Amino acid sequence: MAKKRQNIFDGLKNFQAALLAWYKQDKRDLPFRRSRDPYHIWLSEIMLQQTTMATVLPYYKAFLKKFPNLQSVARAPEEELLKFWQGLGYYSRVRNFQTACRQVLENFDGKIPQRAAELKKLKGIGDYTAAAIASICFDEPVALVDGNVMRVLSRVLEYKKNIALPAAKKFFVQTAQKLLDQKHPGDFNQALMELGALVCRPKSTLCPSCPVQKHCLSFGKNPESLPRKEKPRFISVDYHALLIAKNNKVLLKKPAADNLIANMWELPTHHDLTTPPENSWQKYFKKLPKLTRVGSVRHSITNKKITTHVYRIPAPNLISQGHEFVPLARFEQIPLSTLSRKIVKKFFSPESF
Ligand code: SF4
Repeated sequence: MAKKRQNIFDGLKNFQAALLAWYKQDKRDLPFRRSRDPYHIWLSEIMLQQTTMATVLPYYKAFLKKFPNLQSVARAPEEELLKFWQGLGYYSRVRNFQTACRQVLENFDGKIPQRAAELKKLKGIGDYTAAAIASICFDEPVALVDGNVMRVLSRVLEYKKNIALPAAKKFFVQTAQKLLDQKHPGDFNQALMELGALVCRPKSTLCPSCPVQKHCLSFGKNPESLPRKEKPRFISVDYHALLIAKNNKVLLKKPAADNLIANMWELPTHHDLTTPPENSWQKYFKKLPKLTRVGSVRHSITNKKITTHVYRIPAPNLISQGHEFVPLARFEQIPLSTLSRKIVKKFFSPESF
C-alpha cells in the first residue's frame, strides 16, 4: 500500500494539474469565488460552518449588502446582526464574528491578518477558517482539511483505518500539506473541496467523470465504503458527587482547570478513579461524616457513560477554598455543568436539608 500511495506523490504534478484544470472549468459560480477580499471569504466560511451552500447563499448576499465591511459589523448593535443571521442557527458564530471584527480594528489596525497563525488569534477562527482565508486571499501554502477533504483523500489513498481516531486527522493534515500546490494553494484547496462536493460525494460517487481517477487507488473498486468511521466505544465509569446545602444555597466548586468540564461550575465531584472518594471529601469536614447515598444519575460525555452516585450531607462548618454556596436563584446565570444541574434538580429540595 505504501508503494502504491508513493506513486501518487511521484505523479504529484499531474495530480495537481488535473484537479486544477477541472476546477477552472467546472467549478460552481459562487458569489464569494468572484472575490479575494478576506472579509468576504471570512464571512462565507463562517456562514458555511454546519450549514449547506443552498441555505447560505441568500444570507450571504443580504448580510454583505447590510454590512459591507468589518467596520460595519464591529459597530452594529448585536440585535441587528442577529436579525440578519436569523434562520442560519448557531448564533455564537455571528457573535464571535463581531468580536473578531473588533479585534481586527483594535489589534491589527483594521487589516485582516494574512497568515493563518495570526488569523487563529481571532475569536471563532480555527485551523480550517484560518487556512481558507490565508490560502485563498493571500496565497499562503497551508492545506485545508475538513470532513469533505478527508473523504476524498481517504479514497484517493485508500486509507482504510478509522478516520474518527486522532491519528487519522494527523495523517490527513500531513498528506494534504504534501499534496498542496504551492503556487496555487487557494485554488487547489477549493478544488479539492469542490471535488468532494460535486464528484467524490459521500454517496452516488461519480468516478467515471472524476478528473483524478488515474491517481485514485479506489477507482473501479468500492469507494463509497470509505472513509471508514467507527463510533467510539463507550466506557462505563462511576463518579461520586456531594450535595451540600444550607439556606436554599448549594455548595459548588468554582470553575477550575481540574473540573470535570473546564470553565464550568460543578458540585464537589470525585472522578479520580484511582483513589476512594472519601479522600476527596476529607477537605470539607473536620470529621468525615457517614456518607449517605441518595441515588444516582446517568450522563454521557464523549465516549464515557457516567453513573454518578450522589451523597447528601448537611452543611459542614468547614468549606475548602475554591467553593461557594450559591443561591438557587443564581443557577440560571452561571455556567453550571449539565451533570450538576441534573443532580440538583433530581435530589435537592429545601426541606431535605
Ligand atoms: Fe473519488 Fe472516484 Fe474520483 Fe476516486 S475516482 S477521487 S473515489 S470520485
